Amino acid sequence: MSKLSTLGEFGLIEEIKTRFTGAPLPAGWHGIGDDCAVIPKDANASWLYSTDFLLAGVHFLSDDMPPRACGHKALAVNLSDIAAMGGTARAALLSIALPHDMTTEWAEAFMQGFHELALKENITLLGGDTTKSRHDVAISVTVIGEAENTNIKYRSGARVGDIIAVTRALGASAAGLQSIIKKEKNKDGIDAHYWPQPEMQIGKFLGTQKAVHAMMDISDGLAQDLRHILNASDCGAVLNIPDNLIHPAATLDQALSGGEDYALLFTADAATFDQLEKAAQDELGRTLVPIGKITANKGECEIMYQSQKVTLPKEGFDHFRGMR
Ligand code: ADP
Ligand code: MG
Repeated sequence: MSKLSTLGEFGLIEEIKTRFTGAPLPAGWHGIGDDCAVIPKDANASWLYSTDFLLAGVHFLSDDMPPRACGHKALAVNLSDIAAMGGTARAALLSIALPHDMTTEWAEAFMQGFHELALKENITLLGGDTTKSRHDVAISVTVIGEAENTNIKYRSGARVGDIIAVTRALGASAAGLQSIIKKEKNKDGIDAHYWPQPEMQIGKFLGTQKAVHAMMDISDGLAQDLRHILNASDCGAVLNIPDNLIHPAATLDQALSGGEDYALLFTADAATFDQLEKAAQDELGRTLVPIGKITANKGECEIMYQSQKVTLPKEGFDHFRGMR
């Protein structure tokens, strides 16, 4: 018997995908491999679907995490996948499994956190499921969004010569998790970890920009998530990490491999990147962070920081392998 740790999270997803390749998707549908699945809505627009778990002991430490933050995070990480495709979130389904000794206060605070973010982002709760759990809290959220077909950004759109950029500094959430575990103070890091802010506004903006060719959100660490774009687009990358990529609360390693940042990672036309930066600044007051270029060197990703080559001790998160 071989262990799942040998196959890894992405090896298992690949096996699931291969099993279903015999049944091709109808025209306009996109399945496994992007942040959301895509189903045509009408001639010009599509529905976007994504689902993510939040499990006690795996995604959060139930003794430490405030239940209101749990409710926020359960929805936030899902909304982030809609932003990653350039879409607008419309509705959610919420399934919760709770141990019988969970308090009403916990459940109410959880719902408050979920509801506050739903109100802010104008999300309707369409339904879900509720059950008891024999062990820990398990939450599964599905979100539904929409986008004009011409605005949807896939992981497969990167072109050689594109600039690679992110929407904000990285690593704060990973730094926050370390502080929570070590019981240290680190307000910015801990806030980033408990209260991730999905990039709804800038995701939609980048969706409307023709110069943006590929996009995804960073949930498993920049280095690992960039690999998904490189694999899907059949290209390579050279990164020159600027200091402003590293969040003030974080280390270089946390910025490159930490995970749970929920910033957006995208590639865009190099010739018009200045204009894109200016538009993001003028329209949203946001500073884009260019970090490198797409190359023709398939599957190769070279990372430089302060003119030194960076070798990563680990490359993001794999659920069956833990941090490598
Ligand atoms: P994200 O980090 O954006 O949520 P994942 O890395 O979890 O994306 O998943 C990558 C792709 O694999 C997505 O398109 C997702 O829908 C698909 N996927 C993940 N797990 C499964 C599964 N158990 N069955 C089918 N598809 C899956
Ligand atoms: Mg994603």
